Amino acid sequence: MSTANYNTIEPVKHVLDRLESVRSTGQGKWVARCPAHQDKSPSLSIRAGDNCGVLLFCFAGCPVADIVAAVGLGMADLFPPREPGAHRSRPMAPRIGSSDVVEALKDDLLALALFFRDVASDRNLSAADMRYASKHAMHLAAVISEVQTSGR
Ligand SMILES: [Zn+2]
Repeated sequence: MSTANYNTIEPVKHVLDRLESVRSTGQGKWVARCPAHQDKSPSLSIRAGDNCGVLLFCFAGCPVADIVAAVGLGMADLFPPREPGAHRSRPMAPRIGSSDVVEALKDDLLALALFFRDVASDRNLSAADMRYASKHAMHLAAVISEVQTSGR
C-alpha cells in the first residue's frame, strides 16, 4: 500500500475499526450495526466520500454526532487530517445521495401508505396499529431532519 493510498483510506478505516458487523456493500461502501441505538440488523451506512471524508447515515435517524461519540470519535475524525501548510478550505460535509434517502424512507412510506389505506377504508385500527404508524412517522421525520442538516 502506498503512502498516498494510506492517507486516503485512513478516516474511513478509523471508523470501520470501531464498528460491529461491518460488511462491504461495494466500492467504498459498507453497512454496520449502528452504535448509537439498539441496532439488531445493520442500519448504519458508511461511505468513503469524494473529499476523503466519511459519510455516516443511520437509517433509524441517529444524528452523526451521536454515532461518532458512541465509538469514541469526534466529528473531526470523519475528515482527513489537513496537510501542514495546505490552504485552509472550508470543510465539505459529505452529501447523502438521493438513493440513500429513498432506501431510508422506503419502509416508513410503505407502512404509512398501508396505515392510511386502512384509515380510508374505515377499518378498526388497534392501539398497536397507531403505535406502529406513529413510530414510522417519527422515523420519517428524523431521517428528513438528518438529511436537511447534513445537506446544509
Ligand atoms: Zn442508529
